[in-house]
Amino acid sequence: MKPVFRFAPSPNGALHLGHAFSALLNFELAKRLGGRFLLRMEDIDVIRCTPERRAQMLMDLEWLGLEWEEPVLYQSSRFEQYSGQLERLAQKDLIYSSSASRKDIKQAVLCAQESLEEAYPCDPDGAPLYPRDLLYDKESKEDGAPSALRLDMGRALCEIGADLPLFWREQGAGLEGAHVIGGKVMADPAAWGDVILARKDCLTSYHLSVVLDDAAQGITHCVRGLDLFWATSLHRLLQELLDLPQPTYYHHRLINNAWGEKLSKSRQDLSLAHLRESGTTLRDIKTMIEITDEDLAMGEGAVPK
Ligand code: GLU
Repeated sequence: MKPVFRFAPSPNGALHLGHAFSALLNFELAKRLGGRFLLRMEDIDVIRCTPERRAQMLMDLEWLGLEWEEPVLYQSSRFEQYSGQLERLAQKDLIYSSSASRKDIKQAVLCAQESLEEAYPCDPDGAPLYPRDLLYDKESKEDGAPSALRLDMGRALCEIGADLPLFWREQGAGLEGAHVIGGKVMADPAAWGDVILARKDCLTSYHLSVVLDDAAQGITHCVRGLDLFWATSLHRLLQELLDLPQPTYYHHRLINNAWGEKLSKSRQDLSLAHLRESGTTLRDIKTMIEITDEDLAMGEGAVPK
């Protein structure tokens, strides 16, 4: 079976050097391993992912010299599939709707914090865990307020067998705090609490769509930035709940700006389009991001851990 790689940008802003690194690394690994390279537009946010941004992204990727198999998969064409899978979770009673606003959540967290000696628990992205027990009144559908669908983490863990350790195969160096055994990382989905699986505004979420589409596209190697390392805990749980295959993961290092900060999609001046227009060549870009032999060896699974 041929390995299948993908690059899956969200066209809600401009591509930057970090994206160039990820896309070129995936492309190069697919070439070296005799595999396929697919492109997926993660454009579930139909307001921010404008046709202009999508077109700009395709142009940037072509300029990088990438060649992908057609057709490109647009997540905005798959809302029906996402709803179908949410329905499956609903039938197992693993999701619930909540109309709580950010303000409601903030207030509930402040209230919960008052009775705690330690800091209120946060998810790996630093957001406070959803305080469901203080927001039950927001689960009623009668008021007609827009609702998000949340995973009932407690029930989801019971569903897969709470005492069953969940792992993912990881080829990268991982992050501090990761429990790695023989190239496998122990997933900790509970750390995310009752996450949103369908946002109020777009009927799905990154987490749900990414696992469904990795499966739909037959992705065998999921090569993406270390910023998504802990999200994989949740992705593994969803794969178990929805009977999906699991790819091998390689969370690669991130490219920072000259000040060591994470690159941002909102900084136009560091975008690939801006660099290109101001005379930066593809060769310069490749020098700037510098994919090393070690980056490639990890992706080829050649670095022993
Ligand atoms: N669409 C995500 C992003 O642009 C990446 C998703 C992934 O690679 O899993 O950050």
